[in-house]
Amino acid sequence: MKQIAILGSTGSIGCNTLRVVEAFRDEFNVAALGAGSNIELLVEQIVTHRPGLVSVSDEATAAKLRIELLQRGITELPRIETGVEGLCEVATCEGVEIVIGAVVGALGLLPTYRALELGRRVALANKETLVIAGELMTQAAANSGAELLPVDSEHNALHQCLRGEQRRELKRLILTASGGPFRTAQLESIERATPAEALKHPTWRMGAKITIDSATMMNKGLEVIEARWLFNCSADEIDIVIHPQSVVHSMIELIDGSIIAQMGVTDMRHAIQYALTYPARRPADLPSLDLTTLSKLEFFAPDPIRFPCVELAYQALRQGGTMPAVLNAANEVAVAAFLEEKIRFGDIHRLIRAACEAHSLQSASSLEIVLEADRSTRRWVSRKIDSQEVRAVKS
Ligand code: NDP
Ligand code: MG
Repeated sequence: MKQIAILGSTGSIGCNTLRVVEAFRDEFNVAALGAGSNIELLVEQIVTHRPGLVSVSDEATAAKLRIELLQRGITELPRIETGVEGLCEVATCEGVEIVIGAVVGALGLLPTYRALELGRRVALANKETLVIAGELMTQAAANSGAELLPVDSEHNALHQCLRGEQRRELKRLILTASGGPFRTAQLESIERATPAEALKHPTWRMGAKITIDSATMMNKGLEVIEARWLFNCSADEIDIVIHPQSVVHSMIELIDGSIIAQMGVTDMRHAIQYALTYPARRPADLPSLDLTTLSKLEFFAPDPIRFPCVELAYQALRQGGTMPAVLNAANEVAVAAFLEEKIRFGDIHRLIRAACEAHSLQSASSLEIVLEADRSTRRWVSRKIDSQEVRAVKS
C-alpha cells in the first residue's frame, strides 16, 4: 500500500486525485491532506479517507474544523496543522511516498521543495512552483533522486511521448493550447472582458486562477517555463500551437522530423493516474476517445497581439534568474485583482510587463532570493493597483 499526501485536496486537481485514489483503494492510502478554508469539503474527505494529518490555512479554520469533525462523531481527530508550515508537514509526513502538488500559486513552493529534498515522488500540477524556482527544484530532485512527474496535461503528454526516446534525438517540444474563451474575440472586447466571460473555458473545468490564466494565455507561457525545467529544453526548443479541440494534449518532434502526439479525453484523472502509477499503466475508469466522432483537429499559430502574455513569459525565461518569479508574482496579484473587479482584463498583461521592466535581475541561487523577488513584486504590483495607476474597471 502506497501512502500519499495531497497539497490542495479541496481544489479541482485535489478532488480528481481523490477520485483516482478511490478507484485504487487497495493500492493507495491517503496519509495527509492539505487544504485552505473549504471546511465542508475537507470534513467529507477526512470522514472518507481518515488521514492522520491535516493542514488548513489558519488557526480559526483549524478550530472550526475540530468542531465540525466532533459534530460528525469523529472522536479520533487527525493532527491538525496550519499555514505554509502545515503544508510542509503534509509534504514531509512520515511514510509518505507520493506527494500531489495541487495548491495554486507560489504557496506550493516550500512544501514541494521539502518533498523533493526528502526524495519523494512529486506528482506536480502546481506549475507556478517550477516557474518560480525551476532550477532549485530540479536540483533538489537530482540530489535526492526524487521523481518529479508532471500532472499538467501537456507536460504529462510530453512525458508519455518521450518514453523510450533519447534526449539527443529530440528536436522540439510542441505544447498545445486550446486558445481559451477569447481565441477569436475582438481586441476591444478582450480588453473589457468580465470575470464571468473569462471564466468560461471552452474545454477544461478548472480552478479560477488557471482558468483566467488560460484566457490571457499566460497559462501557456507558464507552461513553456515549466517544460524548460521538466525536460531540460531551451526556450528555442519549445513551441506552442493552438489546438481548439484539446484532443492532442501535446507533441514532440524528433530530429528525423517524426512528430509523436499523445491524445485522449479532456479529463485530468488520466494525467493524475499516470503520475501515481508510473511506470505501470492501469485500466482507467474513463471513456475511450471515440476517434470516429472527431470531425476535425485544427492547429493554428498563437496570436501575439491578442495574447501578449505568451511573449512576456518567453522573455522572462530567456532573461532567467529571478525574472520568471517576478512574472509569476505579478500575474498572481493581477489575476486576483481582476477577479475582484479592481482592474480590467487588459490590465493584466500591462501590469506584468511593468513589473518585469521595473525588476533588477538577480541570479536565482537560493529559495530566499526567489521568495524575496516574489514578495517585493507582490508589493509593487499591489501598490500600482491601489494607487489607481491602472484604470479601475468601474470608473
Ligand atoms: P483550485 O483553485 O481548484 O484549488 C486550489 C487548492 O489550493 C484548494 O485545495 C485550496 O483550498 C488550496 N489553497 C488555497 N489557498 C490555500 C492556503 N492559503 N493554504 C492551503 N491551501 C490553500 O486550483 P486547481 O486545482 O485548478 O489548480 C491547482 C494547481 O494545479 C494550479 O497550480 C494549477 O495551475 C494547476 N493545474 C490545474 C489544472 C486543473 O485542471 N485544475 C490543470 C493543470 C494544472 P480551499 O479551496 O480549501 O481554500
Ligand atoms: Mg496545462
